[in-house]
Amino acid sequence: MRHPFKVVIVTGVPGVGKTTVINHLKKIAEEKQVKVEVVNFGSFMLNYAVKEGIIEDRDKIRTLPLRKQLELQELAAKAIIEYAKLKLGDDGFLIIDTHALVRTVAGYWPGLPKHVIDQLKPDMIAVIEAEPEVIAARQARDKTRYRADFGGAEGVRRLMEYARAASFASAVFYASTVAIVQNKEGAAEEAARELMSYIENL
Ligand code: ATP
Ligand code: AMP
Ligand code: MG
Repeated sequence: MRHPFKVVIVTGVPGVGKTTVINHLKKIAEEKQVKVEVVNFGSFMLNYAVKEGIIEDRDKIRTLPLRKQLELQELAAKAIIEYAKLKLGDDGFLIIDTHALVRTVAGYWPGLPKHVIDQLKPDMIAVIEAEPEVIAARQARDKTRYRADFGGAEGVRRLMEYARAASFASAVFYASTVAIVQNKEGAAEEAARELMSYIENL
């Protein structure tokens, strides 16, 4: 039911601050001398897509035909575990920056369906949350990414509701815990410390 290292999946709607919180978490883990390896699921998918020459932008992945997204999702899940086995060996924590639900061109789509969970075998699924209006503002502010397809605060609120349900659904397969962590404005480090305390108790 588990890998020798512990697996923590970090989810949350686009722009909530997963990558930012995880960057703080890396520093906190270093201070505490806790062994962590961080991977971004989307980056693994994008690597395969770039090699095939189909897209170059991570925000285009969710616009690909669903059969292609599924193929990339399966490749990424397998590659992440192979990478973690090499990097971590028998202990430590694998932190996976990803999505429990993806808003694709063909409808809401699970980021953590059974075939992915069978590979990742997560100990925990964290859900990073914030107020929908705050998230919409972060999306608008961050010019490094294209997130205009999420429908503002109302679209974000709906996606948050479904994504939280999707996280609980994914947790059922391998008896993962679900930790809801608030990433309040200007307090990403605080969110990372809360996440760290959940992780240390696994
Ligand atoms: P995606 O799923 O699209 O990769 P994400 O959840 O990883 O998004 P980030 O890229 O970490 O989101 O953050 C989005 C924007 O919000 C960035 O500009 C980041 O600096 C900002 N941000 C993140 N957390 C906070 C916070 N607690 N307070 C203020 N701004 C924040
Ligand atoms: P991110 O930088 O975390 O937003 O990831 C970039 C993109 O990768 C997302 O917008 C999704 O299209 C895709 N992605 C990330 N994780 C998953 C997943 N678990 N399943 C399917 N697609 C994913
Ligand atoms: Mg991110």
